[in-house]
Amino acid sequence: MALTRIAKEFRWEMGHRLPLHEGLCRNIHGHSYSMRVDIEGETDEYGMVMDYYDIKTIVQPIVDMLDHAFLCDEDDEIMKEFFRTNPMKTVFVPFYTTAENIALYMLEKVCMALADKKNIGKVMIRVYETEKTYAEVERSIAQI
Ligand SMILES: [Zn+2]
Repeated sequence: MALTRIAKEFRWEMGHRLPLHEGLCRNIHGHSYSMRVDIEGETDEYGMVMDYYDIKTIVQPIVDMLDHAFLCDEDDEIMKEFFRTNPMKTVFVPFYTTAENIALYMLEKVCMALADKKNIGKVMIRVYETEKTYAEVERSIAQI
């Protein structure tokens, strides 16, 4: 049976900063992120790798959690202090908030949710920080 790859796209707005960056990215700023989730596997008897609705059921809650939030590195003491006294929608993560690390964060969550799907072999996540720049990671489900 041929391997088939399906994909679904998601969008959200989010603030962040890279405190150790030498350039403009150390400033507080945001992006209109978009993400493509690719799922590769064998089709079932109905000709489907996975229902697109089920992909949305897994991914949309993660996107909703991030939408209009500030993604804050747990080591960013300046921002942590700011949000302590100015509570706003913030998601704290244990990593530097590059597109590469956000893609990996998404990949881990999606792969965990798909662990019981025997027909799926590989998941790929592509996170666009701008229209022209993206980071992409992929993992075989068997590697989890
Ligand atoms: Zn940025």
